[in-house]
Amino acid sequence: MYFDELNITDDLLDALDAMNFEICSPIQEQAIPKILEGNDLLGIAQTGTGKTAAYLLPVLDMLSHGNYPKDSVNCIIMSPTRELAQQIDQQVQGFGYYLDGVSSVAIYGGNDGMRFEQERKGLELGADIVIATPGRLISHLNGGHIDLKKTSFFILDEADRMLDMGFYDDIMKIASYLSDKRQTILFSATMPSNIQKLANNILNNPVEVKIAVSKPAEKIKQTAYICHEGMKDKIAEKVLSAPDLERVILFASSKLKVKELSRNLKMKGFNVGAMHSDLEQKEREDIMLDFKNKKISILIATDIVSRGIDIDDIQLVVNYDVPRDAEDYVHRIGRTARANREGEAVTLVTPRDFMHLKKIESLIEKEIDKPELPEGCGEKPDMTASADRKGRMQKRHKHSRKANGSKNPKAADSHNTTAKDSQSATSSDNSASGSRSKKRSYHHKKQQKIIKNN
Ligand code: AMP
Repeated sequence: MYFDELNITDDLLDALDAMNFEICSPIQEQAIPKILEGNDLLGIAQTGTGKTAAYLLPVLDMLSHGNYPKDSVNCIIMSPTRELAQQIDQQVQGFGYYLDGVSSVAIYGGNDGMRFEQERKGLELGADIVIATPGRLISHLNGGHIDLKKTSFFILDEADRMLDMGFYDDIMKIASYLSDKRQTILFSATMPSNIQKLANNILNNPVEVKIAVSKPAEKIKQTAYICHEGMKDKIAEKVLSAPDLERVILFASSKLKVKELSRNLKMKGFNVGAMHSDLEQKEREDIMLDFKNKKISILIATDIVSRGIDIDDIQLVVNYDVPRDAEDYVHRIGRTARANREGEAVTLVTPRDFMHLKKIESLIEKEIDKPELPEGCGEKPDMTASADRKGRMQKRHKHSRKANGSKNPKAADSHNTTAKDSQSATSSDNSASGSRSKKRSYHHKKQQKIIKNN
């Protein structure tokens, strides 16, 4: 479906044309007409599907010609992270380029008092669209800087991520400030029970649209190097030394590991930047900018950047650690091979991670290649031997439980609990157009294209 088959204003079509958006993605095709009809919407779609335009285009269209109060915030968009909030704001600027008088402001936490004051003033001056992280919006609500009584649109982007970060109560509190007459749109990459609960509480008779979950792009070449923990640094160095690598993201599962890897790789002469939740807002922005401008070629990061980062030409994603959640794997490697480009993902897998690797393979319905280790990195451990050993260990545990006469399954499980606890201790990092001088006509250009093609 072409964008001009949607019932949206020419000013938006012109902006889309300037941004080279021609054909709707499936989520856009399904969601835009439903939102334009005024329905609440529950969208299950991940980053990379075009979900942002799926909600921004209809809302911008309605704001541009509806009779909305000039003196109030008409649309609130909630984002889990400041990075995503900034990206959404950029897309509002892009799509809204030719619209008269639709303004937006992004407000997000974790920065200095001056920024808060600027946000407060911005809110006082009034903005049609406010894009906010939950904690920051609550601060402004508490300070009485923003009034949501007349807000017509309430949008939650990456809602599952917000809940993972512990924002359920904040979202419910924000919803309590809003009028019941609002239109609510919730996008989530996954549909766990807490999202269902949130949807039941804040959506009114929603239309559901779903884009099949979590298959990485076909063009991603996926490799898993089976190795021991102590071999990882050497393998990572080999992988990162491949010629012509300009844009790589290396994911590690804790901020401590990110810092350590960044130090070590810098010492070895790699051009790296580290991205984690301990950084100040300004530092994060500078690193992202350097990465976008190719001043940094390797970004070492926690999962904080695995979703919502809008850089299209990542060549390689390295998973230094196997993500605990199979869907995080899909999100991580989804940073590469975007917009139909080629891309590569390399995952370092130790025997402890086999179970997680199996879960990932079952989610993506594909067996990941497990080649020999790069030259000079040693022999890869035998997966089958390790699986046999695990089986034997489990049998032994069972046997000794029987022999001890233990009927308390908790006692028998204490080993597992400890392992799980130590994992969660390391894996948490949650604190976490160009201007055109002349307006071209979209219809005119498309007609010319059709004539040319005929
Ligand atoms: P999103 O899933 O909203 O993060 O979008 C992923 C990327 O696809 C962004 O860079 C968008 O600008 C781009 N995009 C979204 N929809 C389209 C479309 N219909 N045509 C071309 N690019 C798109």
